[in-house]
Amino acid sequence: MSAIRARICLECTADLDHCHGTLIEHRDALAECTDPECVSLAGERHPLVVSCAEIDGCACESESRIEFLTAS
Ligand SMILES: [Zn+2]
Ligand SMILES: [Zn+2]
Ligand SMILES: [Zn+2]
Repeated sequence: MSAIRARICLECTADLDHCHGTLIEHRDALAECTDPECVSLAGERHPLVVSCAEIDGCACESESRIEFLTAS
């Protein structure tokens, strides 16, 4: 029962414009969504927003590491 309840999306039942993908915010203010059918990257459409710093292997992250190494 509880598993079924967890799958219900309040915004779907309310017919609100929203996205089930995860919005990834990058250092350079670009954003991307894990949902390939996402139509808008507006933050308010995404209940799930993460910083790319929390994701291993993002290009932003490796760039900042190179900067740090060359600066020292
Ligand atoms: Zn939904
Ligand atoms: Zn990034
Ligand atoms: Zn999206």
